[in-house]
Amino acid sequence: MKYKVLKELFGHNSFRELQEEGVDAILEGKDLLMILPTGGGKSLVYQLPTMLMNGITIVISPLIALMQDQVNALNAQDLSAAMINSSQTQKEIAEVIQKLYNNELKFLYLSPEKLNTKYSLELLKNLNINFFVIDEAHCISQWGHEFRDDYRALGTLRQHFANTPITAFTATSTKMVQRDITQALQLNNPLILKGKIFRKNIFISVQHRIGNGYAQLKNFLRNHKNERGIIYVSSRKKAEELSIHLNQNGYKSLIYHAGLPQHIREENFKIFTNDNVDIMVATIAFGMGIDKSDIRFVVHMSLPKTQENYYQEIGRAGRDGEPSQTLLLFNSSDMIMQKQFLKDIPNKDYAQHLYEKIEKIYKFATSEICYHKQIAEYFEDSLEPCQSMCDNCLDEKQDRQDITQEAQMILSTIYKTKQSFGKNYIIDILRGSQEQKLLANNADKLSVYGIGTHRTKKEWFIIVERLLELHILDVGDFSTLKLTQDAVAVLKSQKGVDIKASRLEVKKVQARKIEEDFEYDKELFEALRQKRYEIAQDLGVAPYIIFGDKTLKALANYKPTDKESMLEINGIGEKKFNSFGEDFLEIIEDFL
Ligand code: ADP
Repeated sequence: MKYKVLKELFGHNSFRELQEEGVDAILEGKDLLMILPTGGGKSLVYQLPTMLMNGITIVISPLIALMQDQVNALNAQDLSAAMINSSQTQKEIAEVIQKLYNNELKFLYLSPEKLNTKYSLELLKNLNINFFVIDEAHCISQWGHEFRDDYRALGTLRQHFANTPITAFTATSTKMVQRDITQALQLNNPLILKGKIFRKNIFISVQHRIGNGYAQLKNFLRNHKNERGIIYVSSRKKAEELSIHLNQNGYKSLIYHAGLPQHIREENFKIFTNDNVDIMVATIAFGMGIDKSDIRFVVHMSLPKTQENYYQEIGRAGRDGEPSQTLLLFNSSDMIMQKQFLKDIPNKDYAQHLYEKIEKIYKFATSEICYHKQIAEYFEDSLEPCQSMCDNCLDEKQDRQDITQEAQMILSTIYKTKQSFGKNYIIDILRGSQEQKLLANNADKLSVYGIGTHRTKKEWFIIVERLLELHILDVGDFSTLKLTQDAVAVLKSQKGVDIKASRLEVKKVQARKIEEDFEYDKELFEALRQKRYEIAQDLGVAPYIIFGDKTLKALANYKPTDKESMLEINGIGEKKFNSFGEDFLEIIEDFL
């Protein structure tokens, strides 16, 4: 019978991995905890048995905004469903209740806060309930990444419905979170079904971000013309800026973040799901329950907070099983910024837990091991290197470069300056900079002063990143660099350091590309030109003496917003930055 329903009602020829086991468990009346990656086909596991049962299935789902879509999707398949949540009018709710009493519904979607009212409990007790479904069950665990206060109330479900099976579904959970779910929901000897974490149709790319990353993003998007994708950014403001930028550059994008009024969010969501726009530029608010199956790419413009977030977010690509691409752009400043936010969290244990998660996702991004394998291991699964579906596997065949000597130079400079400075200062010493601050501290008298001119500043930044990822260096207060135990071994030449050669080369290639492309923002270029003209007038020199047109165009393309990324542009050295950098940064910031 179940195969007949699978084919006739759902149109599928066969079950996917673990689906049949889940369906059987439900048909046998067992409690179930199912952990299946996004796109694994969790919905079918509770929808199919419902169609073979007489009663109604109650689905607890966390997001009101998406509930309507889920209900519409079921009704479109002729699986009668309705919802009750706080966004509805009394009249709408009364209509649903009428349908419930008439036994017209197979599924009722409820928001967690609605479930726990006396009225709802009374209502439910009068229904013939097949079983409960707790969707996105990881939200119940405080140690998960999307803990929701209102999910805590679900803990009382078992008391009220002692004999009704409870099933819980999630795409992500570590053993600790599984334990939490089982305990909080008081699952009764549940069958735990855990699928393979590997998403074999998703290609994972990870790159160090240059400046705001727009140039790298546009490079990526060139291969995704007319495809649907999501770009995650870290703030509302960034979402707005990036969406405008994309639209000015011939892409069709919309934004989605928690600061938008509900109706705009819903409208944008609809436009996106109906394929009337290609790209959604969003914060993490655009998340749970997006079941659009043909999303071809997901980009992160900065480091996500946790590996769970990252996995769920990239998981929205390619639910239809077709090849899809993901790109993560990041650098170490993302990690430092996220750690700073933790200072405001009163619960110190919780803050420490989050701190470790940030470290782990940073390590993931910087590590040279297969990305799919790392994700699997994070979720306590195992996997051989994917060989062909991530940058690290494809790069493995490439050369490595020994950087032990450079590492020793950095470490001894940090040691000689008493571990009290940040990377800019340390690199300036190595490169023999004439900066006032350095000279005032007598840094030019140090034996390490000027011994590192064979590397560009950019290369030194990458080498510092590598030492951070290997925990040879650590970041202390005020972004000062600190030596770790491993640093001592490197200094004594007991331990060598190497790096994927392409990492040192990629940046050069990209920086060159950015400048050669000459694809730049004309309006910003004009504003920068105006500034250059004013400065030149003041100083009584020709404008090109300040910066050449090529440099202004690179600025107008790449839009650096801090010193470090500005120094990555050809034609801007330390000296010019000190004289004019701030003036131009101001123009760029105003523009953005
Ligand atoms: P999840 O909730 O686990 O992320 P969904 O339930 O949304 O995944 O299913 C993802 C996609 O897979 C949907 O488009 C669904 O129609 C499809 N799907 C589910 N089960 C099967 C199956 N047995 N055969 C083919 N496609 C399936």
